[in-house]
Amino acid sequence: MPIRVAIVGSGPSGFYTAEALAKSAADCEIDIIERLPAPHGLIRYGVAPDHQTTKNVSRNFDKTAARDEVQFFGNVEVGRDVCLAELRDMYDAVVLAIGSPEDRTLGIPGEDKQGVIGSAAFVGWYNGHPDFVDLNPDLNSANVCVIGNGNVAIDIARLLVKNRQELAPSDITGDAMETILASAVTDVYMLGRRGPVEAKFTNVELREMGKLEQCVPQIDADVIPDSVPEDLEMSDRDRRLREKNLATLREFVGRPADQLPKRVHFEFYAAPREILGGDKVEGIRLERTQVVDGRAVGTGEYFEIETSLVLPAVGYRSSGMDGIPFDDDNGIVFNDDGRVDDGLYAVGWIKRGPTGVIGTNRPDGQEAAKQILEDIPIGRKPGREALAEVLASNGARVVDYNHWLTLDAYERAQARAGAPREKVVTVAAMLGILDGA
Ligand code: NAP
Repeated sequence: MPIRVAIVGSGPSGFYTAEALAKSAADCEIDIIERLPAPHGLIRYGVAPDHQTTKNVSRNFDKTAARDEVQFFGNVEVGRDVCLAELRDMYDAVVLAIGSPEDRTLGIPGEDKQGVIGSAAFVGWYNGHPDFVDLNPDLNSANVCVIGNGNVAIDIARLLVKNRQELAPSDITGDAMETILASAVTDVYMLGRRGPVEAKFTNVELREMGKLEQCVPQIDADVIPDSVPEDLEMSDRDRRLREKNLATLREFVGRPADQLPKRVHFEFYAAPREILGGDKVEGIRLERTQVVDGRAVGTGEYFEIETSLVLPAVGYRSSGMDGIPFDDDNGIVFNDDGRVDDGLYAVGWIKRGPTGVIGTNRPDGQEAAKQILEDIPIGRKPGREALAEVLASNGARVVDYNHWLTLDAYERAQARAGAPREKVVTVAAMLGILDGA
């Protein structure tokens, strides 16, 4: 009997696990279960729409989905159409690849005001994620404050200041593109609670900020150290990468603020302390910091920035899934290098937290496949057939991979000139297109 595996989640970690299992010598039957009709998770809904080369990996996922061993069950929600306990009864192994879809919060006063939008929601909105299609962000603010110095923060800042020529070839939704182009935004503040050496964005992303057609980066020369301090412990590679960031930031120094119509201000040593205003955001209060033993410590000096839009991009988290032991402090499932319980595994961000690039998920998937094949030498459970029965009895409307390819072709046909696709942004519209196909 084949080893029957259900993978919950069709983002990179899910697909890399399916690939590793399908390519192994063992006889496996692999079902990928996805809440949305469209697969690929973070590739489709998280990666910046103007970073199309990163999205090319989805072609490999198409090849995996086309393998005989693999079947895609889209538009199937665990907890609604089938529950985790049922899956564990039906399959020899269940792999959780559910990512970290929620925003970490700042924990400061005023965070609940209208006009504070976390990066999961904001990125989801411009990427056409069905959960955020009605976000309707009010971009009628000259100043926008993006909190955080990671790659998500820099993605958001960049998207907000690009012009039509720069946005058009991306797969940002037409609606989000027009909203951004019609916005009042002229000045984006990238607020880092620590300094340039500690910033987490990578150099390719930072350099992009110096090449924008209508936006000039702004930074105060005094905050950039001459080099990464010798006494900071890190790998040689890390040190080189940070030196590169410092060099890039130095290139930004002195560019005239009025050289182009928009500006991104790199504001380091600035910790958010309070979101100001009534029901709606009117500003943000920050405290100057210094970095002591790697931590941002307040200096007692405060300043404010007037804005009606604050976008915290301070990392993601998950709240887990019913019936799984969850490590709330770290926002991950309790696991021993991916093993959660008998026949239950975790991969990707839900295993190790929201860090790393898309490719970091590949070894995760390979490790999970290895563990499954070590732990379960022979399949004993019914798998796919039993799942299909439960889904049919619950009236679930399953979207398979051929359906997805139909949607994919539809989106490509609807694309504006130069863009790869125009995304269909609601589940109802996706299903409607399939009904008409
Ligand atoms: P991240 O890299 O962990 O960055 C989070 C940022 O938020 C850090 O600068 C952090 O500062 C800051 N922060 C956290 N809590 C804060 C608070 N209370 N107040 C102020 N600042 C706070 O997370 P991310 O940007 O969400 O990215 C997630 C992962 O996806 C990362 O590994 C990232 O590299 C990856 N990613 C990659 C790309 C790409 O390759 N192009 C694009 C997007 C995302 P501290 O450092 O001081 O904690």
